[in-house]
Formats: sequence, C-alpha cells, structure tokens
Amino acid sequence: MFVARMPVSTPLPILMYHKIAPINRRSTLRGHYVHPGMFERQLKALKLLKFSSVQLGTLYDNDWPSRGVILTFDDGYTNFIDSAVPKMVRLGISGTVFMVSGQVGGTNEWDVKNGDVSEPLMTQAQLRECVSKGMEVGSHTIDHVHLDQLPLHELRRQLMDSKAQLEAIVGVPITTLCYPYGRQNEAVRSMAKEAGYRVATSTKKGPNFPNTDRFELRRVNIRSDTLLPVFVSKLWRATRHDR
Ligand SMILES: [Zn+2]
Repeated sequence: MFVARMPVSTPLPILMYHKIAPINRRSTLRGHYVHPGMFERQLKALKLLKFSSVQLGTLYDNDWPSRGVILTFDDGYTNFIDSAVPKMVRLGISGTVFMVSGQVGGTNEWDVKNGDVSEPLMTQAQLRECVSKGMEVGSHTIDHVHLDQLPLHELRRQLMDSKAQLEAIVGVPITTLCYPYGRQNEAVRSMAKEAGYRVATSTKKGPNFPNTDRFELRRVNIRSDTLLPVFVSKLWRATRHDR
C-alpha cells in the first residue's frame, strides 16, 4: 500500500471540480458535472486514504502540508452550497470556491453565450454561508474573461475589483485566484501579485511540490466520468515524486 511509503513532503494534489449535480443532458459541458453520490464516495475515499484537506490560501504562509489535499470548485454554482458543502462539513473537509464576482446571484453567462445551459450561481447570502461553514472563497475574475488577452487597465480591473467586491460580501480577505480557462502569462501573474493575491491555480495538470510557482499551481481535473478507481489513480499520480 503506497500510504505507508509516503515521504514527508508529499506532492500536493489540488482537485478541480465545477458542478456537483447530476449531468444535465442538454449541457454542452457534460464533463463538468460530478454526481453528488459520486462526490460523496470521493470524499470518503480521501478520508480512507488518510488525506487531510487544507485551504488553498494557507499554502502561502503555512509549512507544506504532508499528505494534504485541496479541493477547488470553479465558477460558484449554487449546487456547491446545496450539494457539496453539507457533505464536506459532515466529513470535516474544506474547500475553495472560485466566484465570478460580476455574476453573484446570476448565471454562467459566459457558457450560455456559447450555447450551454444556464445554471444559477450563488447569492451574497450563500457566499457568506460558505465562509461561515469553513469554506474559502476565491476570485474567478469579474466576468470570466481570458485574462491573457486584456489591455492592462482591464486586467487590473478584473483582478483588483473582483477581489474588492468579494471581500465586501464575505468580510474576509480574498487571497486566492483561479484564472478562467487557465489563461495566463507573465503579465497576468505579475498583476495578480500586485493585486494582493497570494496563490493562483491554473488548469495545468499534475502534482504540486514545495517549489512549484504559487501562481501556476497545477490541478487534477475531476469529471463526470471520473469513477472511483479513476479518482484514486489520478490522486495517486498527483502524489508521486517522479512527475
Ligand atoms: Zn470557470
């Protein structure tokens, strides 16, 4: 069993989820749905494998967690508070939800524009409830934009104003950022630092090491077709040193 052979500074898996809900057959992004029952089995597997969840924001000032795992949820869907949070609270697992600040109480307009189904996003009260239940809220920009294609003033606005808007809602510092579509470059990373973020996640795959750039953290994509054996094997690959 690989559990016993883990070295002290275990590579850190950061899991990427979108929607915790049954697949909407009309959706053009069916991979983005993880069934609540499957999600619960994944949480229980994490407990069984002795992973302990840490919040993304603590990576900046904490020691590197040993046998840690970070759960992230992109876009801020209401199914996060309705279907994920109760299960996570019950099992003592935390997570970070990346909210599109211009769509609080709105919908995933950026996907609808491309023909996808409309899904509700969390309201101000629901975001506050997330924090009161031990979840972390991070920024996913104001409008879910391609950050690497923006003029500097708009890049600054998307990063700084989304942070300020979310801080005004939840009343705690927002220190984590998720680049929409994983799109970023040197200018984006540097503006993210200037805006006061401490860590940012990309959509690059793989494990994270203590020396991994905190503004290019890698993630493990958990999809609707990630059945339990696949989940465990993805997790295992993201905790190996030889990657
Ligand atoms: Zn997104």
